[in-house]
Amino acid sequence: MLVSEVKGIGPKKAELLKQMGIVTLDDMLSHYPHTYEDRSKITPLAEVQEGMNCYIRATVEKISSHFAHGRRNKMMRLLVSDDTGTMEILFFQASFYERSFHTEETYYFYGRVSRGKSGLLMAHPEFEKMSGPFEPSILPVYRTVKGISQKDLRKISRFALEQTDSAEETLPGWLIKKSRICSREAALRNIHFPADKMSFRTAKYRLVYEELFFLQTGLFLKGRMRQSAGDGICFSHNSAVRDFAASLPYELTDAQMRVLQEISNDMESPVPMQRLVQGDVGSGKTAVAAAALYKAAEDGYQGVMMAPTELLAAQHFETFQEMFQGTGIRIGFLSSGVRAKERRRVLEGIGNGDIDILIGTHAVIQDEVEFSRLGLVVTDEQHRFGVDQRKKLAAKGKNPDILVMTATPIPRTLAVVLFGDLDISVIDELPPGRKKIETRAVSSRRRREVYDFASARIDEGRQVYVVAPFIEDSEAVDAASASGVFRDLKKRFPDRRVALVHGGMKQQEKDAVMQAFAAGETDILAATVVIEVGINVPNATTMIIENAERFGLAQLHQLRGRVGRGEEQSYCFLITDMKSELGKQRAEIIASSSDGFYIAEKDLEMRGPGEFFGTKQHGLPELTVADLARHMPILNSLREDVKDILQADPSLEAPENRLIALGVERMFGKIAEAGI
Ligand code: ADP
Ligand code: MG
Repeated sequence: MLVSEVKGIGPKKAELLKQMGIVTLDDMLSHYPHTYEDRSKITPLAEVQEGMNCYIRATVEKISSHFAHGRRNKMMRLLVSDDTGTMEILFFQASFYERSFHTEETYYFYGRVSRGKSGLLMAHPEFEKMSGPFEPSILPVYRTVKGISQKDLRKISRFALEQTDSAEETLPGWLIKKSRICSREAALRNIHFPADKMSFRTAKYRLVYEELFFLQTGLFLKGRMRQSAGDGICFSHNSAVRDFAASLPYELTDAQMRVLQEISNDMESPVPMQRLVQGDVGSGKTAVAAAALYKAAEDGYQGVMMAPTELLAAQHFETFQEMFQGTGIRIGFLSSGVRAKERRRVLEGIGNGDIDILIGTHAVIQDEVEFSRLGLVVTDEQHRFGVDQRKKLAAKGKNPDILVMTATPIPRTLAVVLFGDLDISVIDELPPGRKKIETRAVSSRRRREVYDFASARIDEGRQVYVVAPFIEDSEAVDAASASGVFRDLKKRFPDRRVALVHGGMKQQEKDAVMQAFAAGETDILAATVVIEVGINVPNATTMIIENAERFGLAQLHQLRGRVGRGEEQSYCFLITDMKSELGKQRAEIIASSSDGFYIAEKDLEMRGPGEFFGTKQHGLPELTVADLARHMPILNSLREDVKDILQADPSLEAPENRLIALGVERMFGKIAEAGI
């Protein structure tokens, strides 16, 4: 049934509702309230205070209306009272409300109390005439748009709940019984109009359970489908990786070796590899990727590595050229910056197999790029790419092995969900001899000292980053901007070479600025978080972060990772005036730890994954009620059940699992389609 069929919802409101994504009654039922009004308690007027949202029951003593100063509409003023006191109620459009009130009648009012000239008042409260005894209630508050009132939405959801067919069960009865959750119908009723706090909790639990249940089932199915897709490439079992490692100027760490072993095993198996390599900044992921690409090339296959920025891709290209010197392996480079003639040469080389390994930006996923025998696909800093881009790259080969790399440490608990269909390797060790970055939180009063310190490092030939949370200054927020910092730096250090880079600039401009900084042509770089990703400028040894409280812990860790990449001692200053306990705690964590996983775990605890990073980026369906940080225990508790169900009925064909199959399909799309 459509919402337009509800009494009082005309075409205009129906259109607004449509814009909110609410067309049917079912849509309304899944438009969960974001908060509630507690009307289970009536506040006596004597206890009402300014700033409170409260529910009062009062009798109208006097009604007066008059034109307020400068207003075209008449204003209506009610004087109301209960046994304990009196108060004023205001409405700005008297003509609208005149007929709603009569003296000596009693009404309920709900609204925010403010202070007027002659005492406390409520302006434009919601109201209802008292009829019969008081019924305590908790009312839903929905996200809405102008033109659609809470009253409208409540009316629709009430109506929807009365239509029995709106709340069809989505989980099989046996599972509901086994998991001791309430029915979907009870859940919907109580999520919209909770009878009390307990019923609300039961309802919420059921909805979270359902969402996580379908999520986990879908992810397992995805994983299984990949496992059973046995027609990947079997790379030969040989010593390529070990030979390559031995040719490097340094010894690989144990962690790097272990991860390489995991990758080798995958590559040699007929199941197409889909492996995520997580490694903290500086843990040496590039060498691992290079070794894997070497193995592919030695076997006569082509490999490709995609990086999110021109500079990063160019750096990889350079690194690879050095690493592959004397191996006879030919490497190509492709980005939007490559000139037409060179581009033609590279495209040709990829097409006829002259080029073994292609490094590039997302230019490598363009249609003209056709490989002759693509066997291994690597994506660096995978969180910078969309799922579609990664898929498009993989589609350039026939079931190629896939390796994605990320420097964003993801707590194991979350990773198994976010990357449920990927195998995960972790490089949990840094190459030896790295100096710990000295990290300190300082108040803005001491900014001067910090900059003097940085200046002294520049005198020693080093370089400095200064990061700010915003691009431009604004009146709305009191926080530093990269542009503001840039101007300030130029004033502060008229003799230094200062540059600016931020996300509002064109890619080419950004690349040019970064290139100059990497080449040592700039002393200080004012920046936004655009510099967060992957680049390597070992000569930069000081990182100053303005308004550090505005960054997440994981992000601070990433930013800090831009320094400490060379032999020199490096420094990171967090400038912040936040005095709250939480602020101190955060500063403490980041200053005391250089372990990205520990920091990520803390970040997740403090902020939740929604902010940690969006689920959408990972190709996960959007969750509406479940919160992966808070509800992980629920997910863990149902995982075994899901396993059992799929063990007994791998493709969910049994009649008793029909609802499960439908639910997964609703969330992921058709099960039968490849990759779901
Ligand atoms: P990330 O994992 O952040 O991508 P990189 O691959 O860029 O890190 O490596 C960071 C630096 O560490 C590079 O300069 C690289 O040459 C160096 N490196 C990598 N592995 C080792 C190792 N086992 N021993 C010494 N240095 C290493
Ligand atoms: Mg890297």
